[in-house]
Amino acid sequence: IKVDYPREFKGFAITDPKDWDRPKLTSYEPKKFGEHDVDIEVECCGICASELFSLKNEWSDAPLACLSSSYGPKSQVVGHEVIGRVVAVGDKVTLCSLGQRVGLGAQASSCMACPRCSSNNEQYCLKSVGTYCSRYPDGYVSQGGYSSHVRAHEQFCFPIPDRIPSAYVAPLMCGGLTVYSPIKRSIEGIESPRVGIIGIGGLGHMAVMIAKALGAHVTAFSRSSEKKEDALKMGADSFIATGEDENWSSGLTDSFHLILNCASSTTALDLDAFASVLKVNRQLLSVGLPEKNESFDLKPFTFIRSGCSIGVSKLGSRQEAIELLDLAAKHGFKPWVETIDVSEAGIHEGLTRLDRGDVRYRFTLVGFNKFFGT
Ligand code: NDP
Ligand code: ZN
Repeated sequence: IKVDYPREFKGFAITDPKDWDRPKLTSYEPKKFGEHDVDIEVECCGICASELFSLKNEWSDAPLACLSSSYGPKSQVVGHEVIGRVVAVGDKVTLCSLGQRVGLGAQASSCMACPRCSSNNEQYCLKSVGTYCSRYPDGYVSQGGYSSHVRAHEQFCFPIPDRIPSAYVAPLMCGGLTVYSPIKRSIEGIESPRVGIIGIGGLGHMAVMIAKALGAHVTAFSRSSEKKEDALKMGADSFIATGEDENWSSGLTDSFHLILNCASSTTALDLDAFASVLKVNRQLLSVGLPEKNESFDLKPFTFIRSGCSIGVSKLGSRQEAIELLDLAAKHGFKPWVETIDVSEAGIHEGLTRLDRGDVRYRFTLVGFNKFFGT
């Protein structure tokens, strides 16, 4: 363990969802340091739409978890596309070393002992703890990466290949991994896979590039044709503006092995139309997680024509994160990133612009070492 790292972390926190877009600089006690824990000195951090839902508390009926925590901060720092250097390691850590550049996504801990954890499905561990807004067994509510440091279990700290610059690899930690896992699991072993991606935002634009790098023929679905040129540049083979042609699905029967929904709302999703263009027994999967009152409106007859199914996918495993980083290094694909210097004003800008869809296609907050003097 390195001794000269701080006992208090600094980060940008809120205490009331009404102030979701104005996190304030604060100091707080980190979680207790476990023997498998790693402290990361943050260099940069992506901004994911999940943070909007969490900060506004739109996924839950309960108040912010930190407000009722038995110990630890009574404020909430988000951020879960973290790249930084390892500055402390617990006694039993073998997967990271001091000084190493690592990445941390939306998961910070799991039990490491259940059948899910031992089959590369630790993202579905029933004792999983998220990187932010998530309760550890001892009551501490996890604090994320809009901060000087984050503490997480070594399993979730991924070594970053030298070739990829930090600001461009940060979005792969949550968004990239979240789309890589279902795409890879669905198309593995299929000759000439055909994949459709709905919602060309942060996750969606990475999904287009990742599906392409995995050898798929890719169709991008967006509400309007505004993003058409960009999507084709990202590697999409075709583009459909679902909001501009009511009959877009006619003539596309049997077109897709997988359709992956990356949209942050279901309000513009015509699930019947998407189900109608799947091949037999294939899947419409969603990684998009809308606010709590939205749902999928589906009738059994939607599925009957092709025996298709619908499902949801969560994050990805460590093994998949490492595969994805390898794929990114090999294919040289990079998320389309706009960087913003970290500060209260910078975070306000990033969150509010993401909230109104004014992003092409991911923000990465940078300059943490300068800001925090680390
Ligand atoms: P972005 O805001 O960057 O992108 C979302 C996209 O959804 C937009 O670009 C837009 O695409 C589409 N969209 C926006 N509003 C609507 C609407 N009202 N109706 C239909 N489509 C809409 O978000 P992210 O990519 O960061 O996140 C996407 C979703 O994924 C979020 O719900 C997030 O919480 C979730 N997520 C889930 C994870 C998981 O493990 N399952 C992990 C990480 C994130 P277009 O303009 O092309 O139509
Ligand atoms: Zn995320």
